[in-house]
Amino acid sequence: MTTARSENFPESIIRENIKRLTPYSTARDESNAGYGTYLDANENPYNMGYNRYPDPHHKLLKRELALKKGVNEDMIFAGNGSDEAIDLIMRVFCEPRRDNIVSISPTYGMYKVAASINDIEYREAPLKVDFTLDTQALVNLSDNNSKVIFLCSPNNPTGNLLDKEAVLGIVKKFKGIVVVDEAYGDFSGDEGYIPLLSEYPNLIVLQTMSKSMGMAALRVGFAFGNARVITYLNRVKYPYNLNRISQELAIKRIREGSKTLGGILSERERVASSLRELSEVVKVYDSNANFLLVKFRNATEMYNLLLNNGVIVRDRSKVSGCEGCLRITIGKPAENDRLIMLISNFGKEPFIFPLNPFVEVSRITRETAITLKADFTGAGLSSLNTGIGFFDHMLEQISTHGGISLDIDVSGDLWVDFHHTVEDVAIVLGDALNRYFTSAGNYERYGFSLPMDESEATVLIDLGGRAGFNWKVDFRGDKIGEFPCEMFAHFFSTLASAGKFTLNVKAEGENDHHKAEAVFKAFARALKMALASGNLQSVPSSKGII
Ligand SMILES: *Cc1c(COP(=O)(O)O)cnc(C)c1O
Repeated sequence: MTTARSENFPESIIRENIKRLTPYSTARDESNAGYGTYLDANENPYNMGYNRYPDPHHKLLKRELALKKGVNEDMIFAGNGSDEAIDLIMRVFCEPRRDNIVSISPTYGMYKVAASINDIEYREAPLKVDFTLDTQALVNLSDNNSKVIFLCSPNNPTGNLLDKEAVLGIVKKFKGIVVVDEAYGDFSGDEGYIPLLSEYPNLIVLQTMSKSMGMAALRVGFAFGNARVITYLNRVKYPYNLNRISQELAIKRIREGSKTLGGILSERERVASSLRELSEVVKVYDSNANFLLVKFRNATEMYNLLLNNGVIVRDRSKVSGCEGCLRITIGKPAENDRLIMLISNFGKEPFIFPLNPFVEVSRITRETAITLKADFTGAGLSSLNTGIGFFDHMLEQISTHGGISLDIDVSGDLWVDFHHTVEDVAIVLGDALNRYFTSAGNYERYGFSLPMDESEATVLIDLGGRAGFNWKVDFRGDKIGEFPCEMFAHFFSTLASAGKFTLNVKAEGENDHHKAEAVFKAFARALKMALASGNLQSVPSSKGII
Protein backbone atom coordinates (compact mmCIF):
# COMPACT_ATOMS: atom_id res chain seq x y z
CA MET A 1 0.00 0.00 0.00
CA THR A 2 1.33 3.37 -0.99
CA THR A 3 0.67 6.11 1.51
CA ALA A 4 1.76 9.68 1.14
CA ARG A 5 4.19 11.68 3.21
CA SER A 6 2.01 14.74 3.36
CA GLU A 7 4.25 16.46 5.88
CA ASN A 8 6.90 17.04 3.24
CA PHE A 9 4.57 18.56 0.73
CA PRO A 10 5.79 22.01 -0.35
CA GLU A 11 2.70 23.94 0.75
CA SER A 12 4.33 27.22 -0.17
CA ILE A 13 3.91 26.61 -3.89
CA ILE A 14 0.10 26.66 -3.70
CA ARG A 15 -1.37 29.88 -5.08
CA GLU A 16 -2.43 32.24 -2.30
CA ASN A 17 -6.04 32.62 -3.48
CA ILE A 18 -6.43 28.84 -3.62
CA LYS A 19 -5.08 28.45 -0.10
CA ARG A 20 -7.62 30.99 1.08
CA LEU A 21 -10.48 29.57 -0.97
CA THR A 22 -13.66 28.47 0.73
CA PRO A 23 -14.81 25.78 -1.68
CA TYR A 24 -18.42 25.43 -2.71
CA SER A 25 -20.06 23.05 -0.34
CA THR A 26 -22.75 20.96 -1.89
CA ALA A 27 -26.09 20.54 -0.20
CA ARG A 28 -25.30 16.87 0.33
CA ASP A 29 -22.01 17.71 2.10
CA GLU A 30 -23.85 19.39 4.93
CA SER A 31 -26.48 16.76 5.52
CA ASN A 32 -24.50 13.61 5.89
CA ALA A 33 -27.51 11.74 7.19
CA GLY A 34 -28.45 8.40 5.73
CA TYR A 35 -31.26 7.96 3.27
CA GLY A 36 -34.01 10.40 3.91
CA THR A 37 -36.16 13.13 2.53
CA TYR A 38 -33.99 15.32 0.36
CA LEU A 39 -35.40 18.81 0.21
CA ASP A 40 -31.98 20.41 0.13
CA ALA A 41 -30.73 20.58 -3.44
CA ASN A 42 -33.69 21.82 -5.44
CA GLU A 43 -33.74 18.60 -7.40
CA ASN A 44 -36.86 17.18 -8.94
CA PRO A 45 -38.20 14.70 -6.35
CA TYR A 46 -39.46 12.19 -8.93
CA ASN A 47 -37.03 9.45 -9.76
CA MET A 48 -36.80 9.24 -13.53
CA GLY A 49 -33.37 7.63 -13.31
CA TYR A 50 -31.25 10.73 -12.99
CA ASN A 51 -33.08 13.20 -10.81
CA ARG A 52 -30.46 13.33 -8.04
CA TYR A 53 -27.03 14.95 -8.28
CA PRO A 54 -24.18 12.44 -8.54
CA ASP A 55 -21.71 11.82 -5.73
CA PRO A 56 -19.38 14.85 -5.77
CA HIS A 57 -16.69 12.85 -3.94
CA HIS A 58 -16.76 9.81 -6.23
CA LYS A 59 -16.50 7.57 -3.18
CA LEU A 60 -17.34 4.23 -4.78
CA LEU A 61 -15.17 4.92 -7.79
CA LYS A 62 -12.21 5.86 -5.63
CA ARG A 63 -12.69 2.82 -3.43
CA GLU A 64 -12.57 0.56 -6.47
CA LEU A 65 -9.57 2.32 -7.97
CA ALA A 66 -7.68 2.47 -4.67
CA LEU A 67 -7.98 -1.31 -4.40
CA LYS A 68 -6.81 -1.78 -7.96
CA LYS A 69 -3.85 0.58 -7.72
CA GLY A 70 -2.82 -0.11 -4.14
CA VAL A 71 -3.10 3.47 -2.93
CA ASN A 72 -5.19 5.31 -0.35
CA GLU A 73 -8.43 6.81 -1.54
CA ASP A 74 -7.27 10.25 -0.44
CA MET A 75 -4.47 10.03 -3.00
CA ILE A 76 -6.91 9.96 -5.91
CA PHE A 77 -8.48 12.85 -7.77
CA ALA A 78 -11.15 11.82 -10.30
CA GLY A 79 -11.69 14.23 -13.15
CA ASN A 80 -13.69 14.77 -16.29
CA GLY A 81 -10.89 13.18 -18.27
CA SER A 82 -7.29 13.65 -17.21
CA ASP A 83 -7.51 16.88 -19.20
CA GLU A 84 -9.43 18.30 -16.25
CA ALA A 85 -6.58 17.39 -13.92
CA ILE A 86 -4.07 19.09 -16.26
CA ASP A 87 -6.07 22.30 -16.10
CA LEU A 88 -6.65 22.17 -12.35
CA ILE A 89 -2.99 21.51 -11.59
CA MET A 90 -2.16 24.76 -13.37
CA ARG A 91 -4.88 26.64 -11.53
CA VAL A 92 -3.78 25.37 -8.14
CA PHE A 93 -0.06 26.04 -8.53
CA CYS A 94 0.49 28.77 -11.08
CA GLU A 95 -0.13 32.47 -10.71
CA PRO A 96 -1.12 33.77 -14.16
CA ARG A 97 1.41 36.11 -15.81
CA ARG A 98 3.98 35.40 -13.15
CA ASP A 99 4.63 31.68 -12.95
CA ASN A 100 5.63 29.29 -15.69
CA ILE A 101 5.40 25.67 -16.66
CA VAL A 102 8.16 23.60 -18.21
CA SER A 103 7.56 20.65 -20.46
CA ILE A 104 9.17 18.65 -23.22
CA SER A 105 8.74 18.88 -26.96
CA PRO A 106 7.22 17.17 -28.85
CA THR A 107 4.55 16.11 -26.40
CA TYR A 108 0.82 16.14 -25.73
CA GLY A 109 -0.69 19.41 -26.95
CA MET A 110 -3.07 20.01 -24.06
CA TYR A 111 -0.36 21.15 -21.63
CA LYS A 112 0.37 24.13 -23.82
CA VAL A 113 -3.28 24.89 -24.51
CA ALA A 114 -4.23 24.71 -20.84
CA ALA A 115 -1.27 26.97 -19.99
CA SER A 116 -2.38 29.53 -22.59
CA ILE A 117 -5.94 29.52 -21.33
CA ASN A 118 -4.69 30.12 -17.82
CA ASP A 119 -2.28 32.81 -19.02
CA ILE A 120 0.73 30.92 -17.80
CA GLU A 121 4.02 30.99 -19.64
CA TYR A 122 4.85 27.64 -21.24
CA ARG A 123 8.44 26.62 -21.81
CA GLU A 124 9.51 23.58 -23.75
CA ALA A 125 12.73 21.63 -23.67
CA PRO A 126 13.20 19.65 -26.90
CA LEU A 127 13.79 15.94 -26.50
CA LYS A 128 17.02 14.62 -27.99
CA VAL A 129 16.84 13.25 -31.56
CA ASP A 130 16.22 9.76 -30.20
CA PHE A 131 13.36 11.21 -28.09
CA THR A 132 15.15 10.71 -24.79
CA LEU A 133 14.95 13.32 -22.06
CA ASP A 134 17.41 16.21 -22.14
CA THR A 135 17.58 16.73 -18.40
CA GLN A 136 20.02 19.57 -18.63
CA ALA A 137 17.79 21.49 -21.04
CA LEU A 138 14.85 21.10 -18.67
CA VAL A 139 16.84 22.28 -15.69
CA ASN A 140 18.21 25.23 -17.66
CA LEU A 141 14.71 26.34 -18.60
CA SER A 142 13.37 26.34 -15.07
CA ASP A 143 13.68 29.21 -12.61
CA ASN A 144 12.10 30.30 -9.33
CA ASN A 145 8.77 30.91 -11.04
CA SER A 146 8.63 27.44 -12.58
CA LYS A 147 5.90 25.71 -10.61
CA VAL A 148 5.15 22.57 -12.60
CA ILE A 149 7.10 20.31 -14.95
CA PHE A 150 4.91 18.20 -17.23
CA LEU A 151 6.39 14.93 -18.47
CA CYS A 152 4.58 12.30 -20.47
CA SER A 153 5.69 8.67 -20.33
CA PRO A 154 5.10 6.84 -22.63
CA ASN A 155 5.24 10.10 -24.50
CA ASN A 156 2.67 11.20 -27.04
CA PRO A 157 3.39 11.36 -30.01
CA THR A 158 6.80 9.69 -29.82
CA GLY A 159 5.57 6.52 -28.09
CA ASN A 160 8.65 5.93 -25.91
CA LEU A 161 8.96 5.59 -22.15
CA LEU A 162 11.15 8.26 -20.59
CA ASP A 163 14.10 7.00 -18.60
CA LYS A 164 12.94 6.54 -15.02
CA GLU A 165 16.25 7.47 -13.43
CA ALA A 166 16.30 10.71 -15.40
CA VAL A 167 12.73 11.52 -14.42
CA LEU A 168 13.37 10.81 -10.75
CA GLY A 169 16.51 12.94 -10.92
CA ILE A 170 14.28 15.83 -11.92
CA VAL A 171 11.68 15.05 -9.27
CA LYS A 172 14.37 15.11 -6.60
CA LYS A 173 15.96 18.33 -7.74
CA PHE A 174 12.92 20.35 -8.70
CA LYS A 175 11.27 22.50 -6.01
CA GLY A 176 7.87 22.48 -7.68
CA ILE A 177 5.49 19.77 -8.86
CA VAL A 178 6.47 17.14 -11.42
CA VAL A 179 3.57 15.61 -13.31
CA VAL A 180 4.09 12.29 -15.07
CA ASP A 181 1.26 11.67 -17.53
CA GLU A 182 0.76 7.92 -17.92
CA ALA A 183 -2.17 8.02 -20.36
CA TYR A 184 -0.49 5.16 -22.24
CA GLY A 185 1.07 3.43 -19.24
CA ASP A 186 -0.99 0.26 -19.61
CA PHE A 187 0.50 -0.37 -23.04
CA SER A 188 4.07 -0.14 -21.75
CA GLY A 189 4.32 -3.08 -19.39
CA ASP A 190 6.07 -0.75 -16.95
CA GLU A 191 4.70 -0.41 -13.43
CA GLY A 192 5.00 3.35 -13.71
CA TYR A 193 5.30 5.94 -10.98
CA ILE A 194 2.39 5.27 -8.62
CA PRO A 195 4.52 3.03 -6.37
CA LEU A 196 6.95 5.95 -5.99
CA LEU A 197 4.40 8.48 -4.77
CA SER A 198 5.17 7.73 -1.13
CA GLU A 199 8.78 8.81 -1.61
CA TYR A 200 8.13 11.99 -3.55
CA PRO A 201 5.55 14.43 -2.20
CA ASN A 202 5.93 16.69 -5.25
CA LEU A 203 5.04 13.96 -7.77
CA ILE A 204 1.65 13.70 -9.49
CA VAL A 205 0.74 10.81 -11.78
CA LEU A 206 -2.01 11.13 -14.38
CA GLN A 207 -3.94 8.17 -15.77
CA THR A 208 -7.06 7.92 -17.90
CA MET A 209 -9.88 5.56 -18.76
CA SER A 210 -9.80 6.90 -22.34
CA LYS A 211 -7.13 4.74 -23.92
CA SER A 212 -6.42 1.19 -22.69
CA MET A 213 -9.74 0.99 -20.85
CA GLY A 214 -11.70 1.99 -23.94
CA MET A 215 -13.91 4.62 -22.32
CA ALA A 216 -12.98 7.87 -24.06
CA ALA A 217 -16.64 8.83 -24.45
CA LEU A 218 -17.21 8.78 -20.70
CA ARG A 219 -14.52 11.33 -19.81
CA VAL A 220 -12.93 9.82 -16.74
CA GLY A 221 -9.32 10.44 -15.78
CA PHE A 222 -7.31 10.46 -12.57
CA ALA A 223 -4.55 12.26 -10.78
CA PHE A 224 -2.68 10.32 -8.11
CA GLY A 225 -0.58 12.14 -5.60
CA ASN A 226 0.13 13.30 -2.13
CA ALA A 227 -3.10 13.70 -0.15
CA ARG A 228 -2.41 17.44 0.28
CA VAL A 229 -2.18 18.02 -3.47
CA ILE A 230 -5.30 15.98 -4.05
CA THR A 231 -7.21 18.02 -1.47
CA TYR A 232 -6.40 21.18 -3.40
CA LEU A 233 -7.48 19.68 -6.72
CA ASN A 234 -10.76 18.65 -5.11
CA ARG A 235 -11.31 22.13 -3.74
CA VAL A 236 -11.13 23.78 -7.15
CA LYS A 237 -13.01 21.24 -9.26
CA TYR A 238 -16.64 21.74 -10.20
CA PRO A 239 -18.64 20.04 -7.47
CA TYR A 240 -20.31 17.54 -9.79
CA ASN A 241 -17.51 17.19 -12.33
CA LEU A 242 -18.19 13.50 -12.98
CA ASN A 243 -21.70 12.49 -13.94
CA ARG A 244 -23.32 9.43 -12.45
CA ILE A 245 -23.30 7.29 -15.58
CA SER A 246 -19.58 7.84 -16.01
CA GLN A 247 -18.91 6.99 -12.39
CA GLU A 248 -20.97 3.81 -12.54
CA LEU A 249 -19.55 2.55 -15.81
CA ALA A 250 -16.00 3.41 -14.76
CA ILE A 251 -16.41 1.33 -11.60
CA LYS A 252 -17.65 -1.58 -13.66
CA ARG A 253 -14.79 -1.34 -16.12
CA ILE A 254 -12.16 -1.09 -13.39
CA ARG A 255 -13.54 -4.28 -11.88
CA GLU A 256 -13.57 -6.09 -15.22
CA GLY A 257 -10.24 -4.74 -16.42
CA SER A 258 -9.36 -4.20 -20.06
CA LYS A 259 -10.02 -7.27 -22.17
CA THR A 260 -8.60 -5.75 -25.34
CA LEU A 261 -5.09 -4.87 -24.23
CA GLY A 262 -3.37 -8.08 -25.33
CA GLY A 263 -4.88 -7.93 -28.80
CA ILE A 264 -3.87 -4.32 -29.30
CA LEU A 265 -0.31 -5.08 -28.20
CA SER A 266 0.09 -7.98 -30.61
CA GLU A 267 -1.40 -5.89 -33.42
CA ARG A 268 1.09 -3.12 -32.59
CA GLU A 269 3.96 -5.53 -33.17
CA ARG A 270 2.41 -6.95 -36.33
CA VAL A 271 1.70 -3.52 -37.85
CA ALA A 272 5.16 -2.23 -36.90
CA SER A 273 6.93 -5.11 -38.59
CA SER A 274 4.69 -4.97 -41.67
CA LEU A 275 5.33 -1.25 -42.06
CA ARG A 276 9.07 -1.71 -41.68
CA GLU A 277 9.02 -3.81 -44.87
CA LEU A 278 7.51 -1.03 -46.99
CA SER A 279 9.60 1.20 -49.23
CA GLU A 280 7.67 4.39 -48.40
CA VAL A 281 8.43 3.95 -44.73
CA VAL A 282 11.65 5.54 -43.54
CA LYS A 283 11.32 4.55 -39.90
CA VAL A 284 8.87 3.04 -37.45
CA TYR A 285 9.79 4.20 -33.96
CA ASP A 286 9.60 1.67 -31.14
CA SER A 287 6.39 2.17 -29.24
CA ASN A 288 5.29 1.60 -25.67
CA ALA A 289 1.84 2.97 -26.46
CA ASN A 290 -1.15 2.06 -28.66
CA PHE A 291 0.13 4.03 -31.61
CA LEU A 292 3.13 4.09 -33.89
CA LEU A 293 5.08 7.13 -34.94
CA VAL A 294 6.08 6.46 -38.53
CA LYS A 295 8.40 8.50 -40.69
CA PHE A 296 7.51 8.48 -44.40
CA ARG A 297 9.32 9.59 -47.53
CA ASN A 298 6.27 11.66 -48.45
CA ALA A 299 4.28 12.19 -45.28
CA THR A 300 1.84 14.78 -46.60
CA GLU A 301 1.00 12.78 -49.72
CA MET A 302 0.66 9.65 -47.64
CA TYR A 303 -1.64 11.43 -45.21
CA ASN A 304 -3.86 12.57 -48.10
CA LEU A 305 -3.90 9.17 -49.72
CA LEU A 306 -5.03 7.57 -46.48
CA LEU A 307 -7.59 10.30 -45.85
CA ASN A 308 -9.03 10.02 -49.34
CA ASN A 309 -9.52 6.34 -48.69
CA GLY A 310 -11.27 6.86 -45.40
CA VAL A 311 -8.33 6.16 -43.08
CA ILE A 312 -7.67 9.03 -40.71
CA VAL A 313 -4.30 9.26 -38.99
CA ARG A 314 -2.64 12.13 -37.14
CA ASP A 315 -0.35 14.32 -39.18
CA ARG A 316 2.63 15.23 -37.02
CA SER A 317 4.89 15.96 -39.98
CA LYS A 318 5.11 19.69 -39.22
CA VAL A 319 5.83 19.20 -35.53
CA SER A 320 9.36 20.04 -34.58
CA GLY A 321 11.23 16.80 -33.88
CA CYS A 322 8.66 14.71 -35.79
CA GLU A 323 9.32 16.00 -39.30
CA GLY A 324 7.90 13.66 -41.91
CA CYS A 325 5.99 11.62 -39.34
CA LEU A 326 2.41 10.42 -39.05
CA ARG A 327 1.06 9.07 -35.79
CA ILE A 328 -0.99 5.97 -36.42
CA THR A 329 -3.27 4.51 -33.76
CA ILE A 330 -3.48 0.71 -33.67
CA GLY A 331 -6.94 -0.30 -34.85
CA LYS A 332 -8.74 -3.60 -35.26
CA PRO A 333 -6.90 -6.20 -37.37
CA ALA A 334 -9.00 -5.56 -40.49
CA GLU A 335 -8.49 -1.81 -40.16
CA ASN A 336 -4.76 -2.29 -39.77
CA ASP A 337 -4.73 -4.57 -42.82
CA ARG A 338 -6.38 -1.86 -44.85
CA LEU A 339 -3.87 0.71 -43.62
CA ILE A 340 -0.94 -1.51 -44.60
CA MET A 341 -2.50 -2.27 -47.98
CA LEU A 342 -3.00 1.41 -48.77
CA ILE A 343 0.52 2.36 -47.73
CA SER A 344 2.03 -0.48 -49.73
CA ASN A 345 0.09 0.72 -52.79
CA PHE A 346 1.49 4.25 -52.59
CA GLY A 347 3.03 5.41 -55.85
CA LYS A 348 2.21 2.18 -57.66
CA GLU A 349 0.77 2.36 -61.18
CA PRO A 350 -2.00 1.54 -61.50
CA PHE A 351 -2.90 2.28 -57.91
CA ILE A 352 -5.17 -0.43 -56.59
CA PHE A 353 -7.84 1.10 -54.41
CA PRO A 354 -8.69 -1.62 -51.98
CA LEU A 355 -12.41 -1.71 -51.35
CA ASN A 356 -13.37 0.19 -48.23
CA PRO A 357 -15.18 -2.34 -46.08
CA PHE A 358 -15.99 0.18 -43.34
CA VAL A 359 -19.10 2.28 -43.66
CA GLU A 360 -20.31 4.80 -41.14
CA VAL A 361 -23.69 6.50 -41.39
CA SER A 362 -25.39 8.79 -38.93
CA ARG A 363 -28.78 10.38 -39.05
CA ILE A 364 -30.45 12.81 -36.72
CA THR A 365 -34.14 13.61 -36.96
CA ARG A 366 -36.60 15.10 -34.55
CA GLU A 367 -37.44 11.62 -33.33
CA THR A 368 -34.17 9.71 -33.35
CA ALA A 369 -30.41 10.05 -33.43
CA ILE A 370 -28.60 7.07 -34.91
CA THR A 371 -25.01 6.20 -35.60
CA LEU A 372 -24.26 3.01 -37.44
CA LYS A 373 -20.89 1.53 -38.23
CA ALA A 374 -20.79 -1.46 -40.52
CA ASP A 375 -17.69 -3.56 -41.09
CA PHE A 376 -17.97 -5.89 -44.06
CA THR A 377 -14.75 -7.79 -43.42
CA GLY A 378 -16.66 -10.83 -42.25
CA ALA A 379 -16.31 -10.92 -38.48
CA GLY A 380 -20.02 -10.51 -37.78
CA LEU A 381 -19.63 -9.10 -34.29
CA SER A 382 -22.14 -6.61 -33.11
CA SER A 383 -22.81 -3.96 -30.53
CA LEU A 384 -26.48 -3.11 -30.80
CA ASN A 385 -28.11 -0.46 -28.70
CA THR A 386 -31.43 0.48 -30.23
CA GLY A 387 -33.14 0.56 -26.87
CA ILE A 388 -35.43 -2.30 -27.96
CA GLY A 389 -34.00 -5.59 -26.75
CA PHE A 390 -36.01 -7.74 -29.13
CA PHE A 391 -35.09 -5.61 -32.13
CA ASP A 392 -31.40 -5.81 -31.12
CA HIS A 393 -31.77 -9.56 -31.11
CA MET A 394 -33.21 -9.51 -34.64
CA LEU A 395 -30.47 -7.18 -35.91
CA GLU A 396 -27.94 -9.50 -34.37
CA GLN A 397 -29.15 -12.19 -36.79
CA ILE A 398 -28.23 -9.91 -39.69
CA SER A 399 -24.82 -9.37 -38.19
CA THR A 400 -24.02 -12.97 -37.28
CA HIS A 401 -25.46 -14.64 -40.38
CA GLY A 402 -24.51 -11.88 -42.80
CA GLY A 403 -20.94 -11.65 -41.55
CA ILE A 404 -21.32 -7.92 -41.06
CA SER A 405 -20.10 -6.33 -37.86
CA LEU A 406 -22.65 -3.76 -36.82
CA ASP A 407 -22.32 -1.06 -34.20
CA ILE A 408 -25.64 0.69 -33.85
CA ASP A 409 -26.43 3.33 -31.27
CA VAL A 410 -29.84 4.88 -31.16
CA SER A 411 -31.47 7.38 -28.95
CA GLY A 412 -35.07 7.41 -30.03
CA ASP A 413 -38.48 8.48 -28.88
CA LEU A 414 -39.29 5.06 -27.45
CA TRP A 415 -41.63 6.64 -24.94
CA VAL A 416 -43.95 7.26 -27.90
CA ASP A 417 -43.61 3.85 -29.57
CA PHE A 418 -41.13 1.71 -31.52
CA HIS A 419 -42.10 3.09 -34.89
CA HIS A 420 -39.50 5.80 -35.49
CA THR A 421 -36.64 3.80 -34.08
CA VAL A 422 -37.37 0.76 -36.25
CA GLU A 423 -37.97 2.85 -39.36
CA ASP A 424 -34.90 5.02 -38.91
CA VAL A 425 -32.63 2.07 -38.22
CA ALA A 426 -33.91 0.57 -41.49
CA ILE A 427 -33.13 3.79 -43.33
CA VAL A 428 -29.62 4.01 -41.93
CA LEU A 429 -28.86 0.32 -42.43
CA GLY A 430 -30.26 0.43 -45.97
CA ASP A 431 -28.13 3.45 -46.72
CA ALA A 432 -25.02 1.71 -45.36
CA LEU A 433 -25.67 -1.42 -47.44
CA ASN A 434 -26.21 0.68 -50.53
CA ARG A 435 -23.03 2.65 -49.97
CA TYR A 436 -21.10 -0.54 -49.58
CA PHE A 437 -22.37 -2.45 -52.56
CA THR A 438 -22.29 0.51 -54.91
CA SER A 439 -18.64 1.03 -53.94
CA ALA A 440 -17.85 -2.66 -54.17
CA GLY A 441 -18.25 -2.79 -57.94
CA ASN A 442 -17.63 -6.49 -57.98
CA TYR A 443 -20.35 -8.47 -56.26
CA GLU A 444 -22.72 -11.27 -57.05
CA ARG A 445 -25.86 -9.13 -57.08
CA TYR A 446 -28.37 -11.97 -56.51
CA GLY A 447 -28.82 -13.91 -53.34
CA PHE A 448 -31.34 -16.32 -52.01
CA SER A 449 -31.93 -18.31 -48.93
CA LEU A 450 -34.14 -21.37 -48.83
CA PRO A 451 -35.86 -22.90 -45.84
CA MET A 452 -33.41 -24.93 -43.85
CA ASP A 453 -33.08 -26.39 -40.38
CA GLU A 454 -35.25 -24.45 -37.95
CA SER A 455 -35.83 -21.56 -40.36
CA GLU A 456 -38.98 -21.42 -42.38
CA ALA A 457 -38.25 -18.32 -44.38
CA THR A 458 -37.33 -17.76 -48.01
CA VAL A 459 -35.60 -14.55 -48.99
CA LEU A 460 -34.56 -13.44 -52.45
CA ILE A 461 -32.47 -10.34 -52.91
CA ASP A 462 -31.40 -8.41 -55.99
CA LEU A 463 -28.85 -5.66 -55.46
CA GLY A 464 -29.62 -4.25 -58.88
CA GLY A 465 -30.01 -0.67 -57.67
CA ARG A 466 -33.79 -0.67 -57.86
CA ALA A 467 -36.06 -0.77 -54.84
CA GLY A 468 -38.74 -3.43 -54.75
CA PHE A 469 -40.56 -5.26 -52.01
CA ASN A 470 -42.72 -8.32 -51.85
CA TRP A 471 -43.80 -9.67 -48.46
CA LYS A 472 -45.71 -12.84 -47.73
CA VAL A 473 -45.42 -13.39 -44.02
CA ASP A 474 -48.42 -13.91 -41.78
CA PHE A 475 -48.05 -13.52 -38.09
CA ARG A 476 -50.52 -15.28 -35.79
CA GLY A 477 -50.53 -12.58 -33.17
CA ASP A 478 -50.25 -8.80 -33.17
CA LYS A 479 -47.16 -8.62 -31.03
CA ILE A 480 -44.13 -10.58 -29.98
CA GLY A 481 -43.67 -9.43 -26.41
CA GLU A 482 -43.93 -5.67 -26.73
CA PHE A 483 -42.91 -5.62 -30.37
CA PRO A 484 -45.72 -5.08 -32.93
CA CYS A 485 -45.51 -7.68 -35.72
CA GLU A 486 -46.55 -5.15 -38.35
CA MET A 487 -43.17 -3.47 -37.79
CA PHE A 488 -41.37 -6.33 -39.54
CA ALA A 489 -42.82 -5.62 -42.97
CA HIS A 490 -42.27 -1.94 -42.36
CA PHE A 491 -38.65 -2.54 -41.42
CA PHE A 492 -37.85 -4.63 -44.48
CA SER A 493 -39.71 -2.42 -46.97
CA THR A 494 -37.95 0.66 -45.60
CA LEU A 495 -34.64 -1.23 -45.72
CA ALA A 496 -35.20 -2.18 -49.37
CA SER A 497 -36.16 1.31 -50.44
CA ALA A 498 -33.30 3.00 -48.53
CA GLY A 499 -30.87 0.37 -49.81
CA LYS A 500 -32.24 0.48 -53.36
CA PHE A 501 -32.53 -3.27 -53.68
CA THR A 502 -35.33 -5.69 -54.34
CA LEU A 503 -36.46 -8.02 -51.63
CA ASN A 504 -38.86 -10.96 -51.77
CA VAL A 505 -39.72 -12.46 -48.42
CA LYS A 506 -41.88 -15.48 -47.62
CA ALA A 507 -42.29 -17.23 -44.31
CA GLU A 508 -44.63 -19.69 -42.70
CA GLY A 509 -44.82 -21.34 -39.33
CA GLU A 510 -46.56 -21.64 -36.01
CA ASN A 511 -44.37 -19.63 -33.74
CA ASP A 512 -44.18 -15.90 -34.47
CA HIS A 513 -40.90 -15.39 -32.68
CA HIS A 514 -39.18 -18.20 -34.59
CA LYS A 515 -40.68 -16.97 -37.83
CA ALA A 516 -39.40 -13.42 -37.32
CA GLU A 517 -35.98 -14.70 -36.42
CA ALA A 518 -35.96 -16.95 -39.49
CA VAL A 519 -36.76 -13.98 -41.73
CA PHE A 520 -33.84 -11.96 -40.37
CA LYS A 521 -31.52 -14.94 -40.63
CA ALA A 522 -32.59 -15.74 -44.18
CA PHE A 523 -32.24 -12.10 -45.17
CA ALA A 524 -28.71 -12.08 -43.76
CA ARG A 525 -27.72 -15.21 -45.66
CA ALA A 526 -29.20 -13.98 -48.92
CA LEU A 527 -27.43 -10.67 -48.44
CA LYS A 528 -24.13 -12.38 -47.75
CA MET A 529 -24.49 -14.33 -50.94
CA ALA A 530 -25.41 -11.27 -53.00
CA LEU A 531 -22.48 -9.29 -51.57
CA ALA A 532 -19.97 -12.06 -52.21
CA SER A 533 -17.18 -11.03 -54.51
CA GLY A 534 -17.90 -11.67 -58.19
CA ASN A 535 -14.41 -13.09 -58.48
CA LEU A 536 -14.73 -16.54 -60.07
CA GLN A 537 -12.79 -18.45 -57.45
CA SER A 538 -14.97 -17.21 -54.67
CA VAL A 539 -18.39 -17.71 -56.20
CA PRO A 540 -20.17 -19.43 -53.40
CA SER A 541 -22.07 -22.52 -54.28
CA SER A 542 -25.66 -22.34 -53.18
CA LYS A 543 -24.92 -25.28 -50.88
CA GLY A 544 -21.92 -23.60 -49.35
CA ILE A 545 -23.58 -20.35 -48.50
CA ILE A 546 -26.96 -21.38 -47.23
C1 LIG B 1 -5.27 11.13 -24.60
C2 LIG B 1 -4.36 11.77 -23.64
C3 LIG B 1 -4.85 12.35 -22.47
C4 LIG B 1 -6.31 12.65 -22.35
O1 LIG B 1 -6.95 11.91 -21.49
P1 LIG B 1 -8.48 12.18 -21.14
O2 LIG B 1 -8.59 11.41 -19.90
O3 LIG B 1 -9.25 11.62 -22.27
O4 LIG B 1 -8.70 13.64 -20.96
C5 LIG B 1 -3.96 12.80 -21.52
N1 LIG B 1 -2.64 12.76 -21.75
C6 LIG B 1 -2.14 12.25 -22.89
C7 LIG B 1 -0.69 12.21 -23.09
C8 LIG B 1 -2.98 11.76 -23.87
O5 LIG B 1 -2.48 11.31 -25.02
